[in-house]
Amino acid sequence: MAKNYFYDITVVGAGAAALAAVWGCVKEAKIALVTGNPAKNSTYFAQGGIAIATGKDDSPKLHVEDTLEAGRYINNKRAVEILATEGIKRVLQLDRYYPFLDRDNGIIKLTKEGGHRKARVAHAKGDRTGKFLRESLIKVITKEKNITLFHSQVESILADEKGVAGVITDRGEKIISRAVILATGGIGALFKKRTSPNNLQGTLYSQITKLGGNLSDMEFVQFHPTALNIKSATRLPLISEAVRGEGAIIVNAKEKPINVKHPMRHLAPRDVLARTIWEYESKGEKLFLDARKIKTFPTRFPFIYALLRKFGIDPSKDLIPITSSVHYHMGGIETDEEGKTNIPGLWVVGEAAATGVHGANRLGSNSLLECLVFGFRAGKSVNTHIYNETSSKIKPTYIKEKQNRHDIRYIREEISNSAGLIRDKETLLKAIEKLKRKYRSFYNLPPQAFTIYSVLLAALLREESRGAHFRKDYTEENDKFKTRSHLNLKKLKEWWNNL
Ligand SMILES: Cc1cc2nc3c(=O)[nH]c(=O)nc-3n(C[C@H](O)[C@H](O)[C@H](O)COP(=O)(O)OP(=O)(O)OC[C@H]3O[C@@H](n4cnc5c(N)ncnc54)[C@H](O)[C@@H]3O)c2cc1C
Repeated sequence: MAKNYFYDITVVGAGAAALAAVWGCVKEAKIALVTGNPAKNSTYFAQGGIAIATGKDDSPKLHVEDTLEAGRYINNKRAVEILATEGIKRVLQLDRYYPFLDRDNGIIKLTKEGGHRKARVAHAKGDRTGKFLRESLIKVITKEKNITLFHSQVESILADEKGVAGVITDRGEKIISRAVILATGGIGALFKKRTSPNNLQGTLYSQITKLGGNLSDMEFVQFHPTALNIKSATRLPLISEAVRGEGAIIVNAKEKPINVKHPMRHLAPRDVLARTIWEYESKGEKLFLDARKIKTFPTRFPFIYALLRKFGIDPSKDLIPITSSVHYHMGGIETDEEGKTNIPGLWVVGEAAATGVHGANRLGSNSLLECLVFGFRAGKSVNTHIYNETSSKIKPTYIKEKQNRHDIRYIREEISNSAGLIRDKETLLKAIEKLKRKYRSFYNLPPQAFTIYSVLLAALLREESRGAHFRKDYTEENDKFKTRSHLNLKKLKEWWNNL
C-alpha cells in the first residue's frame, strides 16, 4: 500500500543539476529530494573542470563561438549565450559562498581542454571538480532550504488532467507535488564501454514521452577519447582531457604520436579524436597517453595519479593505455532555457535535458556549467508555478511503467553498439529489427529498450555526419540536416510499425 507524502516541489537526482535546481527554489518551498544511490552520479566523478571565460585574453563571446563550433552549429544559440554569461556569475557566486576552485595568489587557475581556444577550465583540488562543486552546493542548500531526502528510485511519474502531479518510488512512496524537476543524468549505462555510473539508464524517457513530452537530439552520444583501457572494470575510469591540456599526447605502442586531422591536434574536439582512435584501433593498434613530460602530475592530478598507481601505472615512466568510451549524451527530454518541458508541471535539467546548448557535440567542461546555470534557472522558474494549488488536494492518476531489470545486459551486449561511434543504415536497422523481434509491440518495450530505440531511430533518420554522430554511409555534413532533431510518441510509434 503506497504511503502519500505532500510537497511543493519534487526534485529527482543528487548530481549538480538537482542540487542547483534546489538552490534556485524559494526558501519557503517544501522540497522532496528523491535519489536512488546519492553516491552514484556522474557529477561525483567529474574531474577536469568547469568552463568559465574569466581569463585575461578570453570573453563569453569566444566561449560561445567555441561551443557553437564544437556543436557544429545546430546549438540553441540563446542557451549557449546564457551558459557563457550566466555561468561565470553562478560559478563565482557559489565559490564566494563555499570556495571550491583552485587558485594561485587569489586568481582562479585555468587550464585548456579540447576545442577551447583559450585556457578557461577552472578546477577543484586538481582533478576532483565534480566532488567539490557538489559539496559546495550541498552546503548552500542544506543551510538555506527546507529539504526532505528520500533514498529511493523513482519508478513512475504521476499525472492528472492538469499535468504532472508527483512521482512513485520503488519503495512505494507516493510523493505528490504540482512541480517535478527531473535531474536524472545521462544514458551512459545503456552502453557496454562507458565512463558513467551503472544506474544512469534513461528509465523515465518512455513515460515522459507517453505523457506527451518530446525527445530531442537523441542521436548525439559523445565518446571520450581517453578512458583508461582496462578489461576488468564495468565502468572505464576516465583520464581527463585536462591531462592533454597540460601537455600529454596520444601515441602508439612505438611511442609515435598519432596523426590527428584537425588544427588543434591532440586537443581537437572529442568526436574528432575518438574517431581517430577508433581508426587506429580498427587496424589493430593499441594507443596510449604519454604524460611523462608533466612533472607535476601527482599534485596537479592527484585522483588520476592514485587511480593509475592502483593499476600499477606510473605516469612519470609508463605510457597510459587508453581507448574511447561512451561518456555523455547531448540529447534528452526537450526543454526551454528555463528547463521547462511541454508537460505542465515538469522541468528537466542537467544531462537528462535537451536545451540544445551542446548542439551535436559537447565542449569539455561545459556540462557542470550547464547543470549549475540551467538547474538554477529551473528552480527559479518553478517558484512561479507552485503556489497555485495545495498539493494535498491533488488526486493523481497512477501511471505504471513495466520495469525489466534483466534487459540491461541484452541492450549492452546486443543492441547499443549499433548506436556507437561509427554508424550506418544497415546496422541501425538490424538493431531495431532485433528489438522488434524480442518485444513485438511498441508498448511492450521496457524503459531502457525504449530509450535505446529512440537513439537508434534518431541516428537512422539523420542521414549525414555531424559532431558526435558519424555515419559511414553519409560521411559529410549536409545542410538539409543543419537543425536539431525531435521525436514524439506518434513519430516513434509510426516508425516502429513501418520499419
Ligand atoms: C567520469 C566523468 C568525468 C566527467 N568530467 C567532467 C568534467 O570535468 N567537466 C564537466 O563539465 N563534465 C564532466 N562530466 C560530465 C558531467 O559530470 C555530467 O554530465 C554531469 O555531472 C551530469 O550531472 P546531472 O546532475 O545531470 O546528473 P548526475 O550527476 O549523473 O546525477 C544523476 C542523479 O540522478 C539519480 N537518478 C537517476 N535515475 C533516477 C531515478 N529513476 N530515481 C531517482 N534518482 C535517479 C542518480 O542516482 C544521480 O544521483 C564527466 C562525466 C563523467 C562520467
